[in-house]
Amino acid sequence: MTERDPNCLFCRIVVGEIPSDRLLEDDRVVVFRDVNPQAPTHVLAIPRAHIGSLADLDDDDGELLAALFGALRRVAEDGGITDYRVISNVGAGAGQSVFHLHIHLLAGRPMSWPPG
Ligand code: AMP
Repeated sequence: MTERDPNCLFCRIVVGEIPSDRLLEDDRVVVFRDVNPQAPTHVLAIPRAHIGSLADLDDDDGELLAALFGALRRVAEDGGITDYRVISNVGAGAGQSVFHLHIHLLAGRPMSWPPG
């Protein structure tokens, strides 16, 4: 984990160099709307620190994970959203395109399974 990678899109969103539609933030986490939504509600929860993906977490990162999922739970509660899907793509082969850890929350349409 590094605090910031100046070439990382989401690090630049964290510091406000790139605008974002933020729903919630605290000292560890920022939640903002996905610029290319795949559902009526599509938000991303990211750590402020630069972490490439879930694969880069350590065993002692439980508090950060709790903060990320807790932030998404609060966004859902605040939006009256009861049915939703959370996803984190790890690696290009799984669909990851931004290499700064993010958890997607999608809601507002029927979800099929398995995902493509
Ligand atoms: P993934 O493909 O799982 O790495 O997800 C990356 C997500 O970031 C995609 O859903 C993109 O639409 C989203 N995204 C890319 N650039 C921005 C941006 N500037 N603001 C908000 N979301 C973005």
